[in-house]
Amino acid sequence: MAVTETLKPPATEPAELIWQDGVPESARFGDVYFNRHDGLAETRHVFISHNRLCERFEKLPSPGHFVIGETGFGSGLSFLTAWADWKQQTANQKHTVLHFISFERYPLTREELKAALSRWPELAPLSDQLTSQYPPLMNGVHRLVFEGGRVRLTLFFGEILHGLKQLPFFADAWFLDGFDPQHNPQMWSDEVIESVRAHSLPGTTFATFTAVGRVRRSLEAAGFEVRKLPGFGRKREMLAGALTTDADIPAPTIAPTDPVAIIGAGIAGTLLARNLAERGVPVLLIDKAANAGSAASGNAQGALYAKLGIEYNAQAELAATALSFSQRYYRPWKDDFWHPTGLLQLATTEKESERQRKFCDRNQYPEDFLTPVTARQASELAGIDIPVEGLWFPRSGWLEPAKACARLATHSLITPLFDFEVQHIERLESGWSIQNTDGTHQHVSKLVIACGHQTAEIAPVTGTLRLKPIRGQVTHLPESTVNPPATVICGSKYLNPVANGQATTGATFDLRNDNPEATAEGHQENMDELLRMLPNLPATGLPSAEDLNGRVAFRCTTHDYQPVAGELRTESGDKVEGAYLFTGLGSKGLVWGPLLAEYLGDLLCAQPPCLPNHLTRRVDTRRLYAKREIG
Ligand code: SAM
Repeated sequence: MAVTETLKPPATEPAELIWQDGVPESARFGDVYFNRHDGLAETRHVFISHNRLCERFEKLPSPGHFVIGETGFGSGLSFLTAWADWKQQTANQKHTVLHFISFERYPLTREELKAALSRWPELAPLSDQLTSQYPPLMNGVHRLVFEGGRVRLTLFFGEILHGLKQLPFFADAWFLDGFDPQHNPQMWSDEVIESVRAHSLPGTTFATFTAVGRVRRSLEAAGFEVRKLPGFGRKREMLAGALTTDADIPAPTIAPTDPVAIIGAGIAGTLLARNLAERGVPVLLIDKAANAGSAASGNAQGALYAKLGIEYNAQAELAATALSFSQRYYRPWKDDFWHPTGLLQLATTEKESERQRKFCDRNQYPEDFLTPVTARQASELAGIDIPVEGLWFPRSGWLEPAKACARLATHSLITPLFDFEVQHIERLESGWSIQNTDGTHQHVSKLVIACGHQTAEIAPVTGTLRLKPIRGQVTHLPESTVNPPATVICGSKYLNPVANGQATTGATFDLRNDNPEATAEGHQENMDELLRMLPNLPATGLPSAEDLNGRVAFRCTTHDYQPVAGELRTESGDKVEGAYLFTGLGSKGLVWGPLLAEYLGDLLCAQPPCLPNHLTRRVDTRRLYAKREIG
């Protein structure tokens, strides 16, 4: 198809809808997304009842989780129905999580989704949340979190077989959807059914609206016991059943109920603490400082910014996925510590201009994620004179990182243990002892080290972890001396809108400098670069470098400038049971933090991951040892 052939990454293939009396139909497959007469009742009949979901939801232990897999997200109606029933059945089980994992090669646009779902006013409270969180149409994995973490949707945009191969999880129940098998054999191939089987456990159930013989035989061959049942409305038959194998039924995975210790209350540590607490896991949040967000995350302002590579490779995919997740994650904190003003990435040099040209040539990002703008458009957006073109990220903005850390750490299941300087971590027969310099200690079964470059000093392993501090100095420009932009501006430096009487600019990037104090040279460098980037920045009597104020922080980075999140390993590659690392976020902690905290939350609670295999490899802790290949 012509449209499809010209697509560049990470664009998705269009759904190509035809609307008949308000019901969406696929022109590509010649089939409806849901029953023309009563799609909601059909969904309940086929998928909810025949997977016995209400009964199973009600019996779920708390804490615990339930996983539904779906082939074909379409309008999201099945997801919303499952969510509505989950909400009703588990109202009193505060610490249970519904994971819904769905695959969609031809996603609807947000507007199409809204139009399709507007048929069900009774679902509006949920469908409004889905449509407002609906991710930009980029191929890959998107995690959406609802109900304060009690409902987690993992949406894979792309060919189902790729998605199933990349996402390791086991479903408790399957919704096998995907249009009429005669019109869409690819969705119902033996390979897809075998992969569904590989993502199932003994006792996993399935239901599907179709009863065609080929699908039934394929399910039976894969090991499912299949029953033919009365279909909905005018459909005579449907199929449902369960996986019946002789294999041992694995013990249900229970979320940890012992406290997990997180060492480091910066943006990584506080995001993870919050994430675990919202899943019902108690957290001891340890820091040597007297409060959260005191070190690298202590700046007054920070931009939500990721520079995406020219080639759409795993590195660019991870950055784009993290950026779009963080934009969703911070939404509830709007006007508190999150300010979604939009962000401009300016082509301030000829080299950057050429890079952006190539970037735009080789990629196709959705407009609601990023779009190229001329100098004039950039000036209009920022409200100040901008002499060069750039890229506009409409959903980005800036944060108050120190305030973010403090807010995130405030939760009834998070116990702060501040003024606690970890001297030593010792392995016990079961769990870990974390010793304070004052001689006291804490005993926990699991721990996560999230203390920037100091992680290497306390990690309970013998090899050297390649983590280095990078000094960054920011400069505070008094409001009266500069007319700042309405949006964040990034280029060789960044400039934020005004907050609390000042606008932050910076930061320096000093590899071999350990001076903790802000210096006049640092301020001068920031000012020189800022005025080179914005020569017409309306400013009146900017103070001299000696009179400026600012702050220094040491950001932790790895040899490959990519973050680290996962199980701690010894130098020879063995897992260090119950110990995890979360660090190396460099100057991008605000972007990487939320997604990697979500990933670690999944990992610690043995829940389905929000990252596909090829992206988890990029954050693997084994990279920290020199010369280790990640298989
Ligand atoms: N469950 C959906 C709902 O609640 O609206 C309806 C699903 S619709 C009947 C089937 C979906 O499968 C379509 O959205 C279609 O684009 C998607 N699909 C078809 N073939 C696919 C494939 N090979 N890989 C991934 N998705 C596919």
